[in-house]
Amino acid sequence: METTRKKNSAHLSSASRLAQGLAEPRVFIVAGLLIALTMLGLTATVLYQSRQDSLARARETSRNVALIAERDIERNFELYALSMQAVVDGLNQADVMALPPRLRHAVLFDRATTAKYLGSMLVLDASGNIVMDSAGEVPRKGNFADRQYFTVQRDNPHAGLFVGDPYRSRLRNGTASMAISYRLSHPDGSFAGVVLMAINLEYFHQLFTGLSLGPHGAISLIGRDGIMVMRQPFDPSIIGRDISKASTYRHFVSMPEGSYSDTASIDGVRRLYYFRNFPDLPLIIMVAEAESDIYAVWRRRALTIGSLTAALALAFVGASCMLAVQLRRRMQLEIKLEVLARTDGVTGLNNRRTLDEIVEREWSRARRTGAAFSLLFIDIDRFKAYNDTYGHQAGDDVLAAIARCILENIRRPADSAGRYGGEEFVVVLPDTPAAAAVQIAEKIRRAIAELEIEHRGSEFGHATVSIGAASWTPERDSDVAAVIRAADQALYNAKAAGRNRVWPAPARPLPLDVAPYRPLNVAAS
Ligand code: GH3
Ligand code: MG
Ligand code: MG
Repeated sequence: METTRKKNSAHLSSASRLAQGLAEPRVFIVAGLLIALTMLGLTATVLYQSRQDSLARARETSRNVALIAERDIERNFELYALSMQAVVDGLNQADVMALPPRLRHAVLFDRATTAKYLGSMLVLDASGNIVMDSAGEVPRKGNFADRQYFTVQRDNPHAGLFVGDPYRSRLRNGTASMAISYRLSHPDGSFAGVVLMAINLEYFHQLFTGLSLGPHGAISLIGRDGIMVMRQPFDPSIIGRDISKASTYRHFVSMPEGSYSDTASIDGVRRLYYFRNFPDLPLIIMVAEAESDIYAVWRRRALTIGSLTAALALAFVGASCMLAVQLRRRMQLEIKLEVLARTDGVTGLNNRRTLDEIVEREWSRARRTGAAFSLLFIDIDRFKAYNDTYGHQAGDDVLAAIARCILENIRRPADSAGRYGGEEFVVVLPDTPAAAAVQIAEKIRRAIAELEIEHRGSEFGHATVSIGAASWTPERDSDVAAVIRAADQALYNAKAAGRNRVWPAPARPLPLDVAPYRPLNVAAS
């Protein structure tokens, strides 16, 4: 069966084209996949870029918010310091101190001390007792020798403007406050007391509340010693907490400003932190935006664009696959149709049309190369009688069996066989001289005889064939019809000589007027 397919050139060419053709649809799938992957890659790159942009924008926003808060706090502290400086200067001027108490009070504590969020401005003596009070000409009673703003100034002559940790005010019903203080010294440099200003922490609270940092944002003001001054979202318990042992605090003191991402242990929210050390105050401001807020818009956009692109890419690949499948089906169908169109239905050999093409092609090739060209004309003996005895269907089976036998006995790939018509076959043997052609013909004849297909109507008792063999080297402008005629004539001679034999044609083209072998059963009698 394998040999049969190999020798049939109609099948052979179709099979190789089938193999080539089937490779092509795969190209569509590969191209579709590549385009889809490129689409996905481009989208991923663009989305990644825009994610980075969101982060950069958030960092910028945090920095701006921190700067605005820092400027506001520094400016206010500068004004407070100036007011306190005025008190220190006044205390050192004898004529101011000689003024009547009401006037002296008005000179020392200007209107600034009545500003919103300011607690009180006090002058304490060396023992911590109030000696002057911005709240009135008659100072309130109180001793604050235990307070940080007092002890630091007492123990350190060069403390300068001291910014203290938060505390609860004893004069103002425990209001959360922080104080800034200056040292007062006697002419000999010994400690004379302090001037202090208490600032209501509500000031920072209000300042931070006005700054928008997204639903999960946070902003904190921390003393450089690690004590929490204020935090937004506001939590009273966090004020005064010492965070100097926390890992975040180490970031704050390592450089003047910076940013980092971290997950907060308090709420488990991952945030982008930006911090800044105040240039002129021992304070640190920290602004944090939750990553979920930073990427919220981006995430929505990424989800939409990403899923759209993925769907598009998937659809693209699907369409490519469908196209490839369709193309493959169509190619298979086309090839099948072509094979059908080139093949004889009963025998599976090349049909007459294909045979004509092969003969024409091989003849032209032989003319070009000057090689010998042989052609066998095979006719089944007494086939009419076979049909009459065994029926048409059995006749068809014999036709197929003989066709198979012919194919099995031609060896070279260039050799081909076809059904010429009725019970006649033609074998084309390119590049084959007469002797070899007769040998092949004889082999075919014998092989068919050896099939021993019962044929009672034949003088041989079994199916046989007669073969006319024509071979010669084509001359310029010679016609292949002459060769066919010669083979046909040789077949006639084989029939006339008693059938079941091979008859070689003479080694020269016959003149045109020699009648070809027709009718087919002249020697039947
Ligand atoms: P000869 O030995 O002289 O060739 O005698 P023959 O009977 O073979 O020759 P003839 O030309 O008189 O008859 C050919 C017969 O082949 C006629 C027809 O019954 C038979 N035949 C032709 N084509 C087919 C076919 O496709 N199927 C079948 N079963 N028989 C066919
Ligand atoms: Mg016949
Ligand atoms: Mg015939």
